[in-house]
Amino acid sequence: MFILLLGAPGAGKGTQGRLLAERLGLPKITTGDILRAAVQAGSPLGREAKRYMDEGKLVPDAVILGLIKDELAKAEAKDGAVFDGFPRTAAQAELVDRTLAERGQRLNHILLLDVSEDELVRRLQQRAGIEGRSDDTPEAIRTRLQVYQRDTAPLIAHYAQRGNVHRVPATGTIEDIATDIKRIIGR
Ligand code: AMP
Repeated sequence: MFILLLGAPGAGKGTQGRLLAERLGLPKITTGDILRAAVQAGSPLGREAKRYMDEGKLVPDAVILGLIKDELAKAEAKDGAVFDGFPRTAAQAELVDRTLAERGQRLNHILLLDVSEDELVRRLQQRAGIEGRSDDTPEAIRTRLQVYQRDTAPLIAHYAQRGNVHRVPATGTIEDIATDIKRIIGR
């Protein structure tokens, strides 16, 4: 089963994705984590990605499409996975849709974690104090929310056309939201 978590930065995709992946025994593929590890390791990918990440901009598709392709090709993602943080652009969505379709698979559930902009800013600022991410500065937060609206939010309409997007109001407790997701997915 392939599950896509959509939602703005700070909506709780990482938290709910982790719970969901653990519960269903699925791998979670998180492009943000992969990129942060690459930055940490100082690899060519990390060096290329860092300047975009620090500014809150998307790492260009020319870099990300290859990364997504590699992740989808891994044996552990053969039968299912939870996608967190991608696809984030139309080109990424096309790649994911096409790759799964070629394998006779599809995104089974698309969950849109829905949180108001005020709450997103509050959460991201709170996280900045805890995790110390270099892109949780006020300017980068502002850019990330703008980039989400411009590049990623249109994917909601793209997937809604196919009728399998579920909106999850994501402002309750972590447990309540997880229960909601369980009900939607049916397991
Ligand atoms: P995230 O942890 O998902 O908020 O991602 C942190 C940063 O990594 C983003 O602001 C982007 O710079 C970069 N990033 C993560 N995933 C992607 C993606 N699928 N496409 C482009 N950039 C990404």
